[in-house]
Amino acid sequence: MPEAAIRHDWTREEVAALFALPFNELLHRAHGVHRQHHDPNAVQVSTLLSIKTGGCPEDCAYCPQAARYDTGVAAQKLMDTDDVLQRARAAKAAGASRFCMGAAWRGPKDRDIPKVAAIVRAVKGLGLETCATLGLLGHGHAQALKDAGLDYYNHNLDTAPEFYGEIIHTREYQDRLVTLAQVRDAGLKTCCGGIVGMGETREQRAGLLQALANLPEHPQSVPINQLVPVPGTPLGGAEPIDPFEFVRAIAVARILMPLSIVRLSAGRQQMDDAVQALCFFAGAGSIFYGEKLLTTGNPDVEADRALFRRLDLHPLEVTASMGTVHADIVDSETNSCGHGCGCSAAA
Ligand code: SF4
Repeated sequence: MPEAAIRHDWTREEVAALFALPFNELLHRAHGVHRQHHDPNAVQVSTLLSIKTGGCPEDCAYCPQAARYDTGVAAQKLMDTDDVLQRARAAKAAGASRFCMGAAWRGPKDRDIPKVAAIVRAVKGLGLETCATLGLLGHGHAQALKDAGLDYYNHNLDTAPEFYGEIIHTREYQDRLVTLAQVRDAGLKTCCGGIVGMGETREQRAGLLQALANLPEHPQSVPINQLVPVPGTPLGGAEPIDPFEFVRAIAVARILMPLSIVRLSAGRQQMDDAVQALCFFAGAGSIFYGEKLLTTGNPDVEADRALFRRLDLHPLEVTASMGTVHADIVDSETNSCGHGCGCSAAA
């Protein structure tokens, strides 16, 4: 197979044509791309801590942390640095090398940045890589976080531009692109993906992946989330997506962004082991590990360990490729906040 091209000019027709390939043909092509750039038997394992939960003023239709939806998620203020440090030390002791922190904000206020910077600095001081998902960033925020030692910033596109207005009304697609530009300009690494299964068409799924692949730089991490319908949210009664359609989304993401680590994020609890195995074959190279993903469930740790044993997978160890270093252990607690990481189902 020829070396996969790194492109930023994918047309919608090209992406739709990939989705339309016979399933086995698509997986063959995706796995070929995966093997060119990644160890097919290694899976990055990440840990995510919600450092500020619930009470968010935004209206992301999938999110249990939005204050306007009655989901039973209690609002909590920003955690103290010492409390975060305690969780980060535990994650490190469990083998984590990266610690991801999510806050349910529209975005941090100027006064929040020194507090988050202190947390980042402290976690970084433990020798951990750091990642944050805080929402829309204001002027100077990305640079301040970078200066504090932040390695990655997560901010998802969530869905296709033309479907976005069906899901979120309190911020524009363009707002997200501006924050992503600030992240890149500050020299931070980018984690950016989206959610499938929100009622979008295949064409719109192609639109999401096209938008991700045509960013000025491919995100180093691309979380692909499957909607976890949470009662009380507008999407609480959403019909589940065909699992093979989800696998197709993973495969197309793999082909479009050959160097990125595609993360199988929120929704794994709804997938059986065979579907997860297909996702790994199709090019997923990362998962969140822990009992909960921000506020929704995540397969329990022992089940994940058993799945790794059955599939002969091993956690990705420190690597210099793409500047990504993982083998983290998430202590996640969200629908992958739509900021996105699995926090948009986000990371
Ligand atoms: S996804 Fe993030 S921004 Fe949207 S409502 Fe949830 S916490 Fe707020």
